[in-house]
Amino acid sequence: MEWMLSRTVYDAIVLGAGPAGLACAAVLGKRGFHVLVLEQWPGIRDKVCGDGISVFCVPQLARLGIGEKELLEAGALPILRKKEFFGNEEKTTVYEKPCYGLPRPILMGLLSHVALRRKVRIHFGFPVQKVEKEGDFYVVNHHLAGKIVVNAMGAVSFLRLAETRDLPFGISSRIFGNPSGIDNHCYHFYYGPDYGNGYAWIFPIGNGLWNVGVWNGDKRKDVAEAYRQFERSLFGEEPLNYDRKPGGAFIGASNGKVALDLPALGDAAYLASYSSGEGITYALQSAIDYAETVVL
Ligand SMILES: Cc1cc2nc3c(=O)[nH]c(=O)nc-3n(C[C@H](O)[C@H](O)[C@H](O)COP(=O)(O)OP(=O)(O)OC[C@H]3O[C@@H](n4cnc5c(N)ncnc54)[C@H](O)[C@@H]3O)c2cc1C
Repeated sequence: MEWMLSRTVYDAIVLGAGPAGLACAAVLGKRGFHVLVLEQWPGIRDKVCGDGISVFCVPQLARLGIGEKELLEAGALPILRKKEFFGNEEKTTVYEKPCYGLPRPILMGLLSHVALRRKVRIHFGFPVQKVEKEGDFYVVNHHLAGKIVVNAMGAVSFLRLAETRDLPFGISSRIFGNPSGIDNHCYHFYYGPDYGNGYAWIFPIGNGLWNVGVWNGDKRKDVAEAYRQFERSLFGEEPLNYDRKPGGAFIGASNGKVALDLPALGDAAYLASYSSGEGITYALQSAIDYAETVVL
């Protein structure tokens, strides 16, 4: 323990700078905690997921001081209705309050600014490899000590306890273009045998960009082909103008949830919805609820 006297000891070390990690750090920072966030990527990560801000997510962002005014100023596109397609049947729902489409890097920029304004330190390019308990402290990678260490490393990390075979998988991209038969200001969801217990989707995210994707839990080996066919049905066979090429990721929605030793948030706690694939709401909510109540 003597070595700790010569090192910086943080009140809290948050593992992972995704939505959950940044939200947790921002709230702890507001409460006056000395907080360090550790992120394996060299900067804010443009993960293949999360351009859709649902009606449930908007109030969670507001808890962090990111209101609808800030979202609109950042370029978020209001989404006022959803269309669901079940074979030949179609159902339209008008939202009472707007949802938003916003490229994930912009959302991540908003979340990082809130954290940095509250004196949180973010260390990028830092892959967490080990967390040990030493007396009253947790020690990360043998040299960083925290009174609290929080796991916000997403569905798949070295600390994961659910098997990846238990996790649903999704592929999405961002495409410039004019998809056929698609409304602006609208989420579109397509259900059917090609998508098993998941669905395909397309929605606008501003500046002529569309988020397009497919996710599934029970037919994961078919997701890539289903994605390719869906993309062609929207944009035809011409070479596509990608802002971000199709990429895949697991969704933190395990049916076999397991308790972790460290407090876990968002996808790391398998809190994403198994029925909708939505996860940012739960990442923010779990992070803010935890950070507002934890005591040193
Ligand atoms: C294709 C797809 C589309 C989706 N679309 C939406 C959507 O439109 N709306 C929505 O609400 N949800 C969506 N989701 C779900 C949503 O993206 C996740 O639920 C959300 O990102 C979870 O946030 P998180 O902070 O818990 O985890 P993550 O976003 O996964 O963040 C974890 C962070 O931890 C870092 N990390 C991991 N391991 C280490 C390590 N060893 N050391 C340091 N850092 C590490 C990662 O690099 C990452 O930055 C989608 C998911 C998929 C797969």
